Amino acid sequence: MSYDFDLFVIGAGSGGVRAARFAAGYGARVAVAESRYLGGTCVNVGCVPKKLLVYGAHYAEDFEQARGFGWSAEAPQFDWTTLITNKDREINRLNGIYRNLLLGSGVTLLEGHGRMLDGHRVEVDGKVYSAKHILLATGGWPHIPDLPGKEHAISSNEAFYLKQLPKRVLVVGGGYIAVEFASIFHGLGADTSLLYRGDLFLRGFDGAVRKHLQAELSKRGMDLLFNADIQRIDKQPDGSLQATLEDGRTLTADCIFYATGRKPMLDNLGLENAGVALDERGYIKVDEQYQTSTASVLAIGDVIGRVQLTPVALAEGMAVARRLFKPEEYRPVDYHLIPTAVFSLPNIGTVGLSEEQAREAGHRLSIFESRFRPMKLTMTDSDERTLMKLVVDADTDRVLGCHMVGPDAGEIIQGLAVALKAGATKRIFDETMGVHPTAAEEFVTLRTPVSVDS
Ligand code: FAD
Ligand code: NDP
Repeated sequence: MSYDFDLFVIGAGSGGVRAARFAAGYGARVAVAESRYLGGTCVNVGCVPKKLLVYGAHYAEDFEQARGFGWSAEAPQFDWTTLITNKDREINRLNGIYRNLLLGSGVTLLEGHGRMLDGHRVEVDGKVYSAKHILLATGGWPHIPDLPGKEHAISSNEAFYLKQLPKRVLVVGGGYIAVEFASIFHGLGADTSLLYRGDLFLRGFDGAVRKHLQAELSKRGMDLLFNADIQRIDKQPDGSLQATLEDGRTLTADCIFYATGRKPMLDNLGLENAGVALDERGYIKVDEQYQTSTASVLAIGDVIGRVQLTPVALAEGMAVARRLFKPEEYRPVDYHLIPTAVFSLPNIGTVGLSEEQAREAGHRLSIFESRFRPMKLTMTDSDERTLMKLVVDADTDRVLGCHMVGPDAGEIIQGLAVALKAGATKRIFDETMGVHPTAAEEFVTLRTPVSVDS
């Protein structure tokens, strides 16, 4: 049977674009349908604009700290509209780059909603296209739990386009997005509260990292409310929002921002037409090679809910393209030791096991920790402290986890991730020369454990 395309990708986000470009590069005839924005979540309402706003928020501290180095200026003024306009311009530029990348690699771009009619046919704007393989790379969408007044709350999607910086912001959630946006709003000058339902935010991260960030955010004056949940939201006559908590307390804010996780984007995708099944969590069910319950349909990225990070979606996209069109170069995606950063202020960088995970996995541990004042801050009034931590297997000397809270933690952890992938032991860390004077050198000069399991 002949098809219009060898591969039809639904969704031009991180994973979809990567799969389409690689497949086309291997000689496949490829189409991509995109209903919203080229580059997907990461480029438009995710990693990229978020990082730009984090840079923007950090200037508040930079201005403050510059005084210690002899710089003085009039009180700096911040203009939200300038930040958002410049951010939008940069995102438009990236959208254009994505368009050129796709077209330049010979991919047919269809700007419209894709819906499967069966396992080989996709409808876009009333036109039907056939393909040997269909790849679902439709990503995710913010999820706000049902509660009275939910319509008054915003998600990350809207936060990037607010007309003005709210004076008082209440951020709900305790994951990456909540912590990052609370840092952005607080840094830019909003009176910010972060409300989380559990004891301490960032569940799953190393305990020392979570506590350190809690202390740093509190020092900066952010209001942290743990073991709290909102029961209802009411709009007040003056336009402000009142959140009533489960315990009866009320909080007033100008903006209530929910960052309570994301759901797979499956709207009108035609899964039922193609016989594509979901897993028990509601994500598209795939096997080890990203094949769904229908052999001709594959799925990658956030929509399969494995690890919701751009580099992972990229790796999955590449793996699918190779498996289908260059099998001799196929390598399965390695999900072991994925480094990650939380771009809170200060940043978190982490790779490998937390102390808690390592203990649960039965390792006998040596723990190394350092807490210090970054050199750049020694001539300022800032009392920010950096945390660095190594989780080491006391029997094999293997470094199981590296964790950091402090400036540029994401940048520093990337290099350490290579060392961990290569199986570095603590001895190899010790034998590595430091780069002096840097914060990163602390990771290779941690000599005395703070604890050793017996
Ligand atoms: P997406 O990038 O979401 O792309 C899916 C695309 O499919 C979208 O463009 C959508 O419009 C399109 N689509 C959906 N349905 C259809 C349809 N039926 N027809 C046509 N098109 C359709 N990850 C990091 O690694 N680092 C970060 O710093 C980071 N920050 C983030 C910050 C925020 C606020 C958010 C929300 C996410 C962040 N992420 C970050 C996660 C990262 O953005 C995602 O893991 C990544 O974008 C997933 O890629 P994807 O290809 O699976 O989906
Ligand atoms: P996360 O899954 O990271 O966190 C969701 C948070 O919301 C958790 O604290 C969770 O609490 C809480 N929560 C969930 N449901 C409810 C509810 N019904 N009521 C109250 N609280 C609730 O999701 P995010 O939205 O922050 O981010 C989505 C994903 O995007 C991340 O997991 C990450 O993979 C990716 N991302 C990556 C970034 C990066 O690399 N820097 C930045 C931003 C996003 P609990 O822990 O108790 O379950």
